[in-house]
Amino acid sequence: MAALDELPPLREVIRRHGLTAKKSLGQNFLLDLNLTARIARASGPLENVTVVEIGPGPGGLTRALLALGARRVIAVERDQRAIAALEEIAAHYPGRLEIVEGDALQFDARHYIEDGRAIVVANLPYNIATALLIGWLTVEPWPPWYDSLTLMFQREVAMRIVAQPGNKSYGRLAVLAGWRSEARILFDVARTAFVPPPKVTSSVVQLVPRREPLACDAAALQRVTEAAFGQRRKMLRQSLKPLGGQALLDAAGIDGARRAETLSIEEFCRLANARPAAG
Ligand code: SAM
Repeated sequence: MAALDELPPLREVIRRHGLTAKKSLGQNFLLDLNLTARIARASGPLENVTVVEIGPGPGGLTRALLALGARRVIAVERDQRAIAALEEIAAHYPGRLEIVEGDALQFDARHYIEDGRAIVVANLPYNIATALLIGWLTVEPWPPWYDSLTLMFQREVAMRIVAQPGNKSYGRLAVLAGWRSEARILFDVARTAFVPPPKVTSSVVQLVPRREPLACDAAALQRVTEAAFGQRRKMLRQSLKPLGGQALLDAAGIDGARRAETLSIEEFCRLANARPAAG
């Protein structure tokens, strides 16, 4: 592939800006612009699209998103050392890259999106990846402000997001993700693609929000799945005791001898909706 842009190679950017990777910030950089372009392309057509990127670091994915035509990228980065590197990219693409220095966990994209629509694309810092995803999946009102999430996770977390009932990875995250979105793994990325390499393989996951998920309260659903999967080997009449036990199960029409991992998302929603009635 021809060069993505005329900007310097990422290794040089990292050296010049002293961006040695910090474990505390979950820094595993992607330096191959062919790979970052593959991730950017997988997020869908980018022309006229506003992209929110979490953790741009030295900017490998940011550069791919901009080179492939994103109208605007809003990039949220906590590491102050990366800001100067990102400013060089912003100068190369005038008016198209907005750098937000701060904590992604405190960031509300809605304040930055003018026309109200955006997609999220990120090679996430692994230490906060699940917390960020739960935040995006529980946002109100629904449908959310984003049209899709295209995100890099550790493969084990990716499996927990897309798992189906009966699978050993099926748990709270799969129920939440499956309730509000259609989630699939797009492709795996070898650990050797990162600098420094993490301990495990990674996967790019795409989540597309369901316009009309089953009617269910997010907080109630989370309380039910927390109790049910907190003791996943126990029968539901036991694990759900703090929430009403057998009375709750009866109200939802679910056999109390079943275990959490056998329940469909629809059944979890029934439990969440039955909770007030069962006390
Ligand atoms: N996007 C770059 C790439 O693909 O090479 C870097 C990805 S690296 C896995 C994660 C990035 O998230 C790092 O740049 C790190 O500094 C940043 N980060 C870590 N914690 C953050 C937080 N709470 N808010 C915003 N960015 C954070």
